[in-house]
Amino acid sequence: MPLTDRDLSTILDDCAREARKEIGKGHVADYIPALARINPDQFGMAVCGVDGREWVVGDSDSSFSIQSISKVFTLALALQSPGASGVWDRVGREPSGNAFNSLVQLESEQGLPRNPFINAGAIVITDVITTHFVSPVLQILGLVRRYADCEDIYIDEEVARSEEESGHRNAAIAHLLKSQGNLVADVDDVLAAYYRQCSIAMTCRDVARAFLPLAAGGRHPLTGETLMPALRAKRINSLLLTCGLYDGVGNFAFRVGIPAKSGVGGGIAAVIPGHFAICVWSPELDELGNSLAGTRALEIFAQETNLSVF
Ligand code: GLU
Repeated sequence: MPLTDRDLSTILDDCAREARKEIGKGHVADYIPALARINPDQFGMAVCGVDGREWVVGDSDSSFSIQSISKVFTLALALQSPGASGVWDRVGREPSGNAFNSLVQLESEQGLPRNPFINAGAIVITDVITTHFVSPVLQILGLVRRYADCEDIYIDEEVARSEEESGHRNAAIAHLLKSQGNLVADVDDVLAAYYRQCSIAMTCRDVARAFLPLAAGGRHPLTGETLMPALRAKRINSLLLTCGLYDGVGNFAFRVGIPAKSGVGGGIAAVIPGHFAICVWSPELDELGNSLAGTRALEIFAQETNLSVF
């Protein structure tokens, strides 16, 4: 039986109620002031159906810093850029089993990042974009706006400046990649673009809409545009499942069973192919960097809809 509007509204209320019980058990990202001062007592969720229906609950229209969720958009852009054919020679497709900003593996594996969603891999992806587009940041923002079908999406320059000032580890990764021959553009140019993609501000509703093409075989149900071939959508979803939740990806697959990408701003974007794109946001994180309440909300959603990829 297909889920009715009423079913979905009830399920979202259940998700919000259960998820809110997690608030107070985690900690907000504190590596930059703009994220450290966020009110932790917030929870939002938006669900977009491939048939164009939408359901929201809580703070679904509050903007938050998408952080690593941006790595999905930059991967999509790199894979449609003139540099697409070289992407998989420069970045792997395996989970890392390491922290997202680790340098150790990069050194021992000669500059070939495990996947495009750890920082090293994402920086290589941003290098592909920086090398092939005159205005990389505008290209990234343009793609995000098109995917979300919303022209108001912006880059929070205060967050970007803080990222830049505190980004010693990312700078170390970029320089290591350069020394290992896996960074083409100027290090500072790549990092400037990388910090700006992390600093894009979006609402849950925007993110869920932007992930709809991944749920709908590459076509955007709201605009009718084909944004990527179906095979590419399937492949990006596979990477979400295996590499999208930092070092907690196995546990997330076990508990939730839905391909997803998290960011340290507290957002998680999730895709149930053929059904829904979802975004949950709540700023408090677990020790691995994934939103505690967001994970719980998705777990309840998967249970109550009886939908997952398994
Ligand atoms: N701006 C953060 C960094 O590069 C992104 C972290 C994240 O969301 O994973 O360290």
